[in-house]
Amino acid sequence: MINFLNLQSINQQYRQEIIEACTRVIDSGWYIGGKELEAFEDNFSHYCGTQYAIGVANGLDALILTLRAWKELGKLQDGDEVIVPSNTYIASILAITANNLTPVLVEPNINSYNIDPTNIQQAITAKTRVILAVHLYGQLADMPKIMQIAKQYNLLVLEDAAQSHGAQLQGKKAGNWGDASGFSFYPGKNLGALGDAGAITTNDLELATILKALRNYGSHEKYKNLVPGMNSRLDEIQAAILDVKLKYLDREIKHRRQIANLYLNGIKNHLIQLPLTDINAEVYEQHVWHLFVIRTKYREALQKYLADHDIQTLIHYPIPPHKQQAYKEWNTVSLPISEKIHNEVLSLPIGPTLTINEAIKVIEHINEFHE
Ligand SMILES: *Cc1c(COP(=O)(O)O)cnc(C)c1O
Repeated sequence: MINFLNLQSINQQYRQEIIEACTRVIDSGWYIGGKELEAFEDNFSHYCGTQYAIGVANGLDALILTLRAWKELGKLQDGDEVIVPSNTYIASILAITANNLTPVLVEPNINSYNIDPTNIQQAITAKTRVILAVHLYGQLADMPKIMQIAKQYNLLVLEDAAQSHGAQLQGKKAGNWGDASGFSFYPGKNLGALGDAGAITTNDLELATILKALRNYGSHEKYKNLVPGMNSRLDEIQAAILDVKLKYLDREIKHRRQIANLYLNGIKNHLIQLPLTDINAEVYEQHVWHLFVIRTKYREALQKYLADHDIQTLIHYPIPPHKQQAYKEWNTVSLPISEKIHNEVLSLPIGPTLTINEAIKVIEHINEFHE
């Protein structure tokens, strides 16, 4: 069986180091808000190239708390519009509505799957305050253009970097382009904890300071509350585990690129649309291949055919946000590019422990697939 992603084998690689890290935390008697968190925040901000990283409970909270912090700082108010790609994972949009802000769904580019800057410009109104740029599948959105638009219209930029740890463009990493960025360390992400975890990165001291309070009941000092906050903390034990895995992130990205390269060069089937067919060196360098997503009109048949050959695939994502029951008010909205993407995408196995031979097997079976 070729698993879509084998978390067991991924974490097995670091078993000894993870056990040592956990033992250190257990024996310390200190489990929340201590040395391990501080060390991981330092190392992760250094990795991203930012001044600050603030650990929180998960990726959704990272986005919710950043928007909340901007409200507390007077930069946003209820009803302000946030531009967001219409094909993103639901969490990006939940963060907006959880703050009484208004999501403005903008269609992606069909080839990159990331938000189309031309469509951003057309969606800007007098109420627009934020662009929430998602680096979907491990590829940076067109940040040079997005930052230029943001500057022109005086907008804040929040990156959803949950799928793109380590991706970089023009020497600048995901998490260091916008005013702030939300990361997830959900176990299946490119940098994954053994449970839930997340972080915000920023170069803004004022924002970092209020975020540290917001994640901890709005308190900097015990029993003194500056703002109405939440409990959204990154546990010491998860921080210690993440610090172990961060050391190997670049090596793992390198392996993902190797697999992606095999797929890009090896899959030759006219029924299948590969990602980045107009691949150039710069794009290749920046993509961290959280997911390797192909497109085909015969998705259901292909998924079944691969399953019959013991190859597990997943769909990211089967239902676009505007067709979800949770957002009934949008169910009749037409977003043809997103709908096409959601109907046709299929994610192939990729990960740091997928072997070259397994990838070749996937390629061989896909090349033999026909109508
Ligand atoms: C995973 C993910 C999130 C949410 O992260 P959690 O840690 O699961 O809350 C947000 N946005 C995107 C694009 C994601 O892939």
